[in-house]
Amino acid sequence: MDWKRLYEDFSDLSKTEQMRLFQAIKDTLFPEEKEDISKMIHQIREVRFSNGLACFHCGSIALKRNGKYRSRQRYLCKDCGKSFNDMTASPISGTHYPHKWLKYVDGKTLPKIAEELEIHISTAFYWRHKILNALRSLGFSTLKGIIESDETYFLESDKGKKRIIYRKPRKRGGKATKRGISKEQKSVVVAHDRNGNIISKMAGRGRISADEIDQVLSEYLDKEIVLCTDSATNYKAFAKQKGISHEIINANKGVHVRKGVYHIQHVNAYHQRLKKWMERFNGVATKYIDNYLFWFRFLELNKQLSKKLCKQTMVLDACKRANHITIKTFKIA
Ligand SMILES: [Zn+2]
Repeated sequence: MDWKRLYEDFSDLSKTEQMRLFQAIKDTLFPEEKEDISKMIHQIREVRFSNGLACFHCGSIALKRNGKYRSRQRYLCKDCGKSFNDMTASPISGTHYPHKWLKYVDGKTLPKIAEELEIHISTAFYWRHKILNALRSLGFSTLKGIIESDETYFLESDKGKKRIIYRKPRKRGGKATKRGISKEQKSVVVAHDRNGNIISKMAGRGRISADEIDQVLSEYLDKEIVLCTDSATNYKAFAKQKGISHEIINANKGVHVRKGVYHIQHVNAYHQRLKKWMERFNGVATKYIDNYLFWFRFLELNKQLSKKLCKQTMVLDACKRANHITIKTFKIA
């Protein structure tokens, strides 16, 4: 039997059958995927217990290892008598297939993920946001030195909501009915320091105010900073309120850089990339905007990683903190 004879028959198969055969051959030739799973669980164990091994229920360190199940180590607490495993209270605790989670974290569309994993779209959506919620719970780090900040706007979307009372429902993405910035738009503040730290968070509805900027930024600003923004009055008011050094870059007057270092080109470029990346989701429901903003921020911060490593890092980061998000709390959120 030689392979060329086999291959001749290949073209007689339907496209679906061809794909199945390809997958079967791939699985036979590269069985290491299973090893990948146990390697990943090992990594998850290390990040989760980086401060030492303690009981998830009572915090006791009197633990006994209690066998393994599907590569997950089980532990029994000698104090409270409860048990847990490597994945307990992580966003991926409920799944038998942790490797499948890697599919959720590359910007594939939900219908595509649902099809590939043979699950319902709403399940795919729930899993995606479980990871994103966990990732978001890690929060931002403090911005230092020269900080560029600017806001951008996203059209409000009520995707997923059953009834829209105050205006006609808009289908997928859509356009604003009014020109310019109106109450239909959600403002998003992006701030960027020169060490690569990024804050990106929804601020409010319509034209942004100084108070909204304050709410997003203040807790993450170092003491001695220089804030660079465009000439918008809301930022002037914010800087004044807080007594922050402020460099205004007035592009309308042809100024793009002041004193050689003060500009807002990093933050503007970030906005452009963010807008482009968001297009694939065809309009994001307002209550999930922060999850997507955090996701994009993660991708930007980990740009230098290979695609595969980036996805692994995202799952590991999402597992860093214990998260108790169930379907019930998720739906109310
Ligand atoms: Zn315990």
